[in-house]
Amino acid sequence: MILLAAPAPAPPFQPPVIEGEGAGLEVMEESLRAAFASTSDFGPWPAGPWHVRIHPDAAAFEKATGAPAGRSGQWQGDTLHLRPWDQLRRRDLGAILRHELTHRRLRDARLRRWEEEARCLWAEGHARPPRAWPAAPPAGAQARLDRALAGGATREQAWAYRWLRAWLRGGPLPHPPEPTGATAESWTREAPVLAETVTVVWPAERLRGPMAVNGHQLSHRLGRTWRFQGAVRFQPGFPVGPLRGTVRIRAERHGWRLAWTASRTAWIAAAAEGELGADAPFEARRALAAVLDRWLDGHPRQHPAGALCPLTHCAVVRGGAMPGTIRAVEAAPPLDLDPRWAFFTGSAGGHSLSPRVVWGDGPAEAGSAPEVPEDRWTAWERTLEAAQVAALKRDVAAGLKPGQLGMRLGASGPYAVEALRLAAGRRYGWTTWPSNVCEGELRPDGSLHLKGRGWGHNVGLCLSTARFRAAQGAVAEQILAEAFPPSWRLP
Ligand SMILES: [Zn+2]
Ligand SMILES: [Zn+2]
Repeated sequence: MILLAAPAPAPPFQPPVIEGEGAGLEVMEESLRAAFASTSDFGPWPAGPWHVRIHPDAAAFEKATGAPAGRSGQWQGDTLHLRPWDQLRRRDLGAILRHELTHRRLRDARLRRWEEEARCLWAEGHARPPRAWPAAPPAGAQARLDRALAGGATREQAWAYRWLRAWLRGGPLPHPPEPTGATAESWTREAPVLAETVTVVWPAERLRGPMAVNGHQLSHRLGRTWRFQGAVRFQPGFPVGPLRGTVRIRAERHGWRLAWTASRTAWIAAAAEGELGADAPFEARRALAAVLDRWLDGHPRQHPAGALCPLTHCAVVRGGAMPGTIRAVEAAPPLDLDPRWAFFTGSAGGHSLSPRVVWGDGPAEAGSAPEVPEDRWTAWERTLEAAQVAALKRDVAAGLKPGQLGMRLGASGPYAVEALRLAAGRRYGWTTWPSNVCEGELRPDGSLHLKGRGWGHNVGLCLSTARFRAAQGAVAEQILAEAFPPSWRLP
């Protein structure tokens, strides 16, 4: 007889005592719960009560912890000290919490300081450890990393973090900084470790063929890297438009990996323009900028090292934005939307859905999105062949969360419509099953006939409506008030 050992159940999340003021406490508990779940493979959670203290201002945080300006959180005993809410909101809260909760999970693991830090950096962007960690560096390098992390000068610290990130992704390791005479270098003068920037990475598979930057042809020698600062322009016909900021390019087997790091504003503008088009009315761009700003706060940057992709998965980026879109971002209205529900959709097709209906979580009330004349996604029809339907049944587990929209496929199901839509998109392209508002009819030959409305998940700001309402003269504030019911707002 073969006995299968059941895995020991992970201890459930016991919320900490959260001390602090302001609107963020409920979001904080939810974010901690999410970070707890997504770090469970990094180590056991130590038993016993714990605390989270959100400091009222940066000075109080730095005084309590002695932490440098770039650091967002710091454990002292069983208390996680965090920067003020308004500062955390502007950084990637999910990544910060995954990092810090992993520190606590590794508390008793007796790792060297640099090893622990590397695992925490990895946990920022990954739900489980890699199959194997890269080979350890020579003893001298380990000692220098430990010294830098334990309280070296800012330059040393910044080098240590750059080194650890490069080591984790298998890239070239940066040389340590030259020693300087000044030993009491201030923490606050240069601490770019968590500066408020956003990085978009185009994978090499998407950038093939020749590449010219600012008129210079780059030679594709495997592993070679370039770094450009300022205005960067590619040759005509290249799939990425002009960028401004830091651009890193690496020649890889399948093409060019391109990483663009820029300010949060520059990313929001690029994404607003990528999603809406540069010709969209100004008020539509203002409205989407407000949603993207909240979205950045609520979504873990799911790609390695906290980067975003330039695709619909994160938000479409085709290049830097025009000055008009930058102005729209700077003039975006404040939006008290709960970042978890900061969604937008290509078109709701006149039928907006709630997060609860699509994902089985969150508010059950839907916003309003009028039917837009001449919207090509107002109504669509598709037919999936029997073999495609069979593949979707294999890909998607049957069953619904409470309140979630489902569809039966003959005798089986119900399946979450969102799960079917995503599975169809991954297998057969994203226009195969365009949206969640749809009816399906399984025909005797096993094929599935779909009739639906909209493009995307149908939740949140409908971009088609935003363009239409702005062209009618509505301002961003009105457009947002129609798209997001009060129950989606922060308390
Ligand atoms: Zn750390
Ligand atoms: Zn993405």
